[in-house]
Amino acid sequence: MELDETEARKKADDIISRIWAERNHQIIEIMNGLMIEDRMMNRMRIFSETLLHNFFRMLWPYFGLHKYIMHEHLDSFTVEGICISCKTDLVTRDRSGMLVISDWKTTRSIDIDKENLQLNVYAIWGSDHFGDDVEKIKTQTVNLRTGEINQHLPTKQSIEIVKQKILLETERMKDSNEATFEAIPTIEKCYSCRFLNKCGEGKKSIEYSANQTYALNVIDGD
Ligand code: SF4
Repeated sequence: MELDETEARKKADDIISRIWAERNHQIIEIMNGLMIEDRMMNRMRIFSETLLHNFFRMLWPYFGLHKYIMHEHLDSFTVEGICISCKTDLVTRDRSGMLVISDWKTTRSIDIDKENLQLNVYAIWGSDHFGDDVEKIKTQTVNLRTGEINQHLPTKQSIEIVKQKILLETERMKDSNEATFEAIPTIEKCYSCRFLNKCGEGKKSIEYSANQTYALNVIDGD
């Protein structure tokens, strides 16, 4: 389905307005019930509108040529009987027919190794779900602040490495307790993480954000 830009802008504006009108339910509930000051709420709204503006200004010319398939799609697949869940931000097909899986980013700095792991997982899902050869799938991070697109072309070899990693990590999880795994708190993820109640690192990052320093840094730039 090809989307008309005006129609897409209107839909996006409507969604933001609806979320804002129901902010006490929509935002606070998503953020594990955390109470958020009005000042912070306002900054979040401005931030989301800025990202949306960036999307239409810098990224629509690129995505407007794609065929839309799905967005915010939660699904699962299995690797050697191990169930893996993943949620893709946007799935499209480009003009050459390649499946394109995009992952939104809103921070300036990213960890390339973790990104590649995540993008390879999306490629396995895409191949499983649509039947495309993994080497015909394009995965990419799309930075909504800068408009930068970092493309990643999975190979059979990179996919095999990720599958082995999944098997290895699963074995480790079976043999150990959660304390042996490194927590990687990021404010955007911790706020809505369903493991927050059990995660000391995540709670610390939320407490930090309650002082607003970190959260405002996220919104302002890093
Ligand atoms: S709450 Fe803990 S497990 Fe969840 S995203 Fe944050 S650091 Fe990771």
